[in-house]
Amino acid sequence: MVSPATTENLVVIGSGPAGYTAALYAARANLAPLLITGFQEGGIPGGQLMTTTHVENFPGFPQGILGPELMDRMKAQAVRWGARLLEADAEGLDLSRRPFTIQAQGQALQAHAVILATGARANRLHLPEEERFWSRGISACAVCDGATPQFRDEPLAVIGGGDSACEEAHALTKYGSHVHLIVRSNRFRASKAMADRVAANDHVTIHWEHEVEALQGDDWLAAIQLRHRLDGATKRLSVRGLFYAIGHTPNTGLVQGQLPLDEDGYLLPQQPGHPETVVPGVFWAGDVADRRWRQAVTAAATGCQAALAAEGWLTEENLAVPVSRKTAEPEPAPPPQPVSPATEETYSPTALWQQGSYALRRLYHDSLDPLVVVYTAPGCGPCHVLKPQLKRVVAELSGRVHAVEINIEAEPAIARQAGVSGTPTTQVFYRKELRHQWRGVKQRRMIRAELEKALSAGNQGQ
Ligand SMILES: Cc1cc2nc3c(=O)[nH]c(=O)nc-3n(C[C@H](O)[C@H](O)[C@H](O)COP(=O)(O)OP(=O)(O)OC[C@H]3O[C@@H](n4cnc5c(N)ncnc54)[C@H](O)[C@@H]3O)c2cc1C
Repeated sequence: MVSPATTENLVVIGSGPAGYTAALYAARANLAPLLITGFQEGGIPGGQLMTTTHVENFPGFPQGILGPELMDRMKAQAVRWGARLLEADAEGLDLSRRPFTIQAQGQALQAHAVILATGARANRLHLPEEERFWSRGISACAVCDGATPQFRDEPLAVIGGGDSACEEAHALTKYGSHVHLIVRSNRFRASKAMADRVAANDHVTIHWEHEVEALQGDDWLAAIQLRHRLDGATKRLSVRGLFYAIGHTPNTGLVQGQLPLDEDGYLLPQQPGHPETVVPGVFWAGDVADRRWRQAVTAAATGCQAALAAEGWLTEENLAVPVSRKTAEPEPAPPPQPVSPATEETYSPTALWQQGSYALRRLYHDSLDPLVVVYTAPGCGPCHVLKPQLKRVVAELSGRVHAVEINIEAEPAIARQAGVSGTPTTQVFYRKELRHQWRGVKQRRMIRAELEKALSAGNQGQ
């Protein structure tokens, strides 16, 4: 699919709303763009929305939509029109001469034009238990999550001392019963107007010189423990929501020293509000250059601008090699294939991928082949990334392994029994013995290597 010998018309780096929108527009302009999705550098394929649950403010979804589902749809739309995906990180980028060179997956790719859509990461505190409560009480986006029902009329907290923290604390008083603002130092870094506004708000209590040191709750955040930075005194606050407003880190490592960045590392456009960078043929889209709006819809909008600008530039420079389509209308995107849990009637001992505890029990007891069990949750973005990889590897191993997916929300007892503390968790069993287990997302070749290892260990153990 990717030939290092050819020069791509356009390479898009990043697969958040900005990257997929840019790829969609470029694909519809017959540029056959190559999109490097990213894998570990600066996020996962699909970007920041893969780490959230409900997105209520993306137009076109009146009931809201799960973040990972929205990203699956954007991906399907870009692919349907001819965008090609390379699931890897861009590890190097040379903008000093044209065509530009991008290092990814051990290859040096050449491109006439590049769109940088590598996004940004909301800074985290890395508190103990933070992963457990992420999207279950903790959020890095008050604009996005503040209005969700779990936060309505409940005590909430915001961490930070800058403009965003003050703005969010003030805005959250619309939803919460009270807002605690936790500030590390004894003064705000926010503008005077913003600081005055929050100080005058009776629904906000400011906890100067405090840090959060512990999180408590069951399946949702219930309280936080604060520690005074000077005297070490601790106090407990009952809160149902904790909003991080401690800044973002833009993913601009690839262009450091090649393109101008601001003091926080955000990419600086050639002209504010325009998709061009100072290097002709290099464009930006999304949060990578947007320190202010940082929304999915603004990222998508700038993705559109970048693709149209890239198309215009490639045409002016006479560099584009458009692909011709056999038909004007591409094939419809395949509909999502819901898999229902297997029952006594639907269970098949030879099926490669089944769902639910019935299939698990039967395969665990009856199968002589290695068994892969993947524990997932509907709102888990990394699960959306892992599952297609895992399915492909299981298919490639053509019947030598069988896989069962357990939705831990639907079957929590199974997950508890298996000692699963988060999703995705993958376990490999051979003849009832747990041979291997891993947490999180892995690339396809790594998954294949893990399963081959389990298979050969299985053969040796026979
Ligand atoms: C928890 C949370 C909830 C949110 N909720 C909402 C919401 O409800 N509504 C809303 O509008 N916005 C929401 N946002 C903000 C929204 O997610 C972002 O504004 C949006 O995702 C930005 O899109 P982007 O495409 O610019 O970047 P991102 O989504 O950050 O995507 C960047 C992409 O670049 C890739 N990448 C990074 N480095 C490399 C590299 N070296 N090589 C290849 N790829 C690379 C990453 O893997 C990723 O795929 C939320 C954000 C968070 C964190």
